[in-house]
Amino acid sequence: MIQIKIFTFNPFNENTYILFDETNECVIIDPGCHNYEERKELTDFIEAKELKPVKLLNTHAHIDHILGNAFVKRKYEIPYFLHKKDMPILESAPNRAAHWGFPAYEHTDVDVFMEEGDKISFGESELEVLFTPGHAPGHVVFLNREQKICIGGDVLFKGSIGRTDFPLCSFEELEQSIKTKLYTLDDDVIVFPGHGTFTKIGIEKLTNPFVKG
Ligand SMILES: [Zn+2]
Repeated sequence: MIQIKIFTFNPFNENTYILFDETNECVIIDPGCHNYEERKELTDFIEAKELKPVKLLNTHAHIDHILGNAFVKRKYEIPYFLHKKDMPILESAPNRAAHWGFPAYEHTDVDVFMEEGDKISFGESELEVLFTPGHAPGHVVFLNREQKICIGGDVLFKGSIGRTDFPLCSFEELEQSIKTKLYTLDDDVIVFPGHGTFTKIGIEKLTNPFVKG
């Protein structure tokens, strides 16, 4: 049984997720922790729960989702997973970090490239990778069909969708990703997004003003 811990970090109010199960193994998704206090909050939780981090996953490589990557990888000595098509975003991160005022940003080498359909395991649990480009060219979401949970990054928000006014974004691709990958999931699948509160597929299909179900 997967349990989810949500942190909200950095000036972009980015949601960082830790998923763990009864084995105490965990994955860390989109660590946006960028200062001492935020990093301590993350590590204190892991210590208090006696968790064993095994993988570092990114839904995509926008700067607010990756500020804690280098810290997490160094601290726990775990492999870093990204979709190959997000490499241009990762490579532009030093510029974005300078632009947004994060002088402490450190680059992290990718260890594993994820593909649509890949299974990411930790403990006795598994996450399925869905390729959902549009907000970023190599954006993925992480789905557990049994527990009906989806760690969704910046694709679909409660009443909104990911921005497509950044470089390498495409509204048409994002709309396709939402319609073909997310709106085809069960209505009671819960989406845990990269910003803001969680929502359900069925609610967004009915009420989302940007992409109709
Ligand atoms: Zn983003």
